Amino acid sequence: MAVPFVEDWDLVQTLGEGAYGEVQLAVNRRTEEAVAVKIVDMKRAAECPDDVRKEICIHKMLSHEHVVRFYGHRREGATHYLFLEYCSGGELFDRIEPDVGMPEAEAQRFFQQLIAGVVYLHGLGITHRDLKPENLLLDERDNLKISDFGLATVFKHNGRERRLSRMCGTLPYVAPELLRRGPFRAEPADLWACGIVLTAMLAGELPWDQPSDACQEYSDWKERKTYLPPWKKIDSAPLALLRKMLAESPAARATVADVAQDRWYCRPARRPGREAGGKRARAASPGGLGKQARSHAHLPPAEGPLSEEQTSYSTSQPEPGTGGAPWDSGAGGSERPARGISFSQPARPEHMLLNSQLLGTPGSSQSPWQRLVKRMTRFFTKLDAACSYRALKEVCERMGYGWKRSCTNQVTISTTDRRNNQLVFKVNLLQMESRILVDFRLSKGDGLEFKRHFLKIKGELGDVVSAHRLWLPPS
Ligand code: ATP
Repeated sequence: MAVPFVEDWDLVQTLGEGAYGEVQLAVNRRTEEAVAVKIVDMKRAAECPDDVRKEICIHKMLSHEHVVRFYGHRREGATHYLFLEYCSGGELFDRIEPDVGMPEAEAQRFFQQLIAGVVYLHGLGITHRDLKPENLLLDERDNLKISDFGLATVFKHNGRERRLSRMCGTLPYVAPELLRRGPFRAEPADLWACGIVLTAMLAGELPWDQPSDACQEYSDWKERKTYLPPWKKIDSAPLALLRKMLAESPAARATVADVAQDRWYCRPARRPGREAGGKRARAASPGGLGKQARSHAHLPPAEGPLSEEQTSYSTSQPEPGTGGAPWDSGAGGSERPARGISFSQPARPEHMLLNSQLLGTPGSSQSPWQRLVKRMTRFFTKLDAACSYRALKEVCERMGYGWKRSCTNQVTISTTDRRNNQLVFKVNLLQMESRILVDFRLSKGDGLEFKRHFLKIKGELGDVVSAHRLWLPPS
């Protein structure tokens, strides 16, 4: 499918779904550049049109290595198209093994990059307000990028800070002061969410449904019962940092400056190796391993806070893009995408994947699989399409999932998670070479819970699942 209103760009794959539309991968037929296009249907966002305008307005002025680049946007009638840096590494949550987490050195590196991005945003007077692994994307080199500025807002302007009062975000990640409904400071609330993200990375589970006294796990944390999960899975050094970051009082909570000086945070680390088969090996303690982690949180860059004019919402019709780009250049997005990704036949994903030219692209060390968004939640089957469909249906029905065929090759599966929240995911069955790829994508609900259910279904399918590797680890 072509991107409407522009030649040369094809929408080749759905990358994700949000509240008001989809995010698609668009590839330029001529230049082979790849961008993510967030398509926002204003009819679906009717009750909060300002949020969408604010997202565009804020995102377009950001430019940082750990923030998803905003290239520009177009509006056609009631639909907004946001052109974003394509993060082929997928979502951070996909790297978190349920109930296990990820190697500590890897978590440390992601965490350092997250803090670097947050320091940048706070330096501009912007708070994200919905930091969670689903909103932290990875590029092809596994560099973390903060994404989704749908709830972001300005908390500091001309050096003057305002307190916030809107209760928003995702409950397990919100700071306790938000639940008290009084005015609260933005920075400590974002830092709290970073602490929850770190816990999820190190333990593979979220510590509580919400940080209120009615929640037993939260009371246990306040009583320092760290012999309980998830804390007992976490080494003493990162746990000491979490103690400071998840302090109930925002005034007592670690600031970014405190985090930057933390012993574990600063500890030199080496990237973990991977086991054969692409599975990440559990890293040894990163202490004393010599090689410095690749990225560090720096103090805020020289840019000042946003001016009033910059923060006013842009409601005007966009001008036609220049130089063949389908978007209008935003303040922070005046360049075309820096890295063209060498898709040769982007009209259909199958073609991209099967095109042998891709393998021989000079300078390309990636397999075609790596060019698609990395996702752990997919597998090949040993059966043909009809039998794969039947096997999946049988397992899902037996496990009590809601099952609905959404279109020819797609089904929508629904259930509720451990916290009784709705969980909906889509499964696409794709013919790849002579095999069937079963590709799961979260549509609604918590990422970690989705992954748990994916693993259960995969386990139930047993022998039907082929051991074929989906991508090679980056060199
Ligand atoms: P929500 O309703 O969860 O807030 P949203 O409408 O704001 O979602 P996003 O969170 O921006 O939408 O995107 C939804 C999903 O699309 C992401 O979780 C991710 O999987 C995918 N996605 C978004 N942006 C990109 C990107 N730049 N590169 C690759 N995938 C992306």
